[in-house]
Amino acid sequence: MDEFSGPRQRLIATLKKQGITDERVLAAIAAVPRERFVPDHLRTKAYDNVALPIGQEQTISQPYIVAIMSQMLRLSGNEKVLEVGTGSGYQTAILSRLCRTVVSVERLPSLSQSAAIQLRELGCANVELHVGDGTLGWQPSAPFDAILVTAGAPDVPSPVYNQLRLGGRLVIPVGDEESQELQVIEKHKTGPQISDVGTCRFVKLIGDAGWEVDDGLQNSEG
Ligand code: SAM
Repeated sequence: MDEFSGPRQRLIATLKKQGITDERVLAAIAAVPRERFVPDHLRTKAYDNVALPIGQEQTISQPYIVAIMSQMLRLSGNEKVLEVGTGSGYQTAILSRLCRTVVSVERLPSLSQSAAIQLRELGCANVELHVGDGTLGWQPSAPFDAILVTAGAPDVPSPVYNQLRLGGRLVIPVGDEESQELQVIEKHKTGPQISDVGTCRFVKLIGDAGWEVDDGLQNSEG
C-alpha cells in the first residue's frame, strides 16, 4: 500500500465503468505508478482521469485513452509493438507489460531521456527507446505485430502502415488539429480494414509523414 493505492483503485473502477474489460490492461494500469511519469507539482493529480502537461508543450495521455488504445491492440503477450510518441513513457510502461518487446520512438530528446530514466527504474527491460521521426516508423526493427501512434496524424503515415505485418493492428488518431477519429486499422492481403472507434484530441504528430513543424522546438531540441 502507498499514498496512491486508493486513487489508483478508484481509477481502475472508473475505467471498468467506461468499458475497459481487458483484464491484462486493467492489471497493467493497476501496476504502473503513473505518479512517476508526471511532473512533481502534478503528482497529486496523477490518478485523475485526465491528460496532464509534461513540458515541451506535450502531454501524458488521459488514462482512459491509454486503456482503450491498449485494449484495441488486442495484445496477448508475444508481440513486438511499435509505439510512436514515447512522451512521458507511461504508455510505454503499460505496453511493456502486455507484449514481448516495445520499440518506442520520440522526436523530442529531452522527453525520451526522462522516459528512459523512469522505465529503467521500473525495470522495464523489454523496451527499446529511440529518438527520431516516428512518422517513418522504425525500419531496423520492422515488421511489427502491432503499432500504436500516440499523437494526432493528418493521415495514416504510409511508412508506419508498411511496417505492420499482415494480420497486425495499427491504432492511430487521424484528423485535423482540433479533433481526431481514433482508428483501428487491420492489415489484410486485400488491403486495410478501418474501424472508427470514437473522437479524441491529441497533440500533433509532427514529421515527414505527419504535420509540419510549427513550434520552433525542432531547432532547440536538435
Ligand atoms: N504516450 C505518451 C504518454 O503516455 O506520455 C503520450 C504521448 S504525447 C500525447 C505525444 C508524443 O508524440 C509527444 O511526446 C510528441 O513529442 C511525440 N511526437 C509527435 N510527433 C512525433 C514523431 N513524428 N515521432 C515521434 N514522436 C512524436
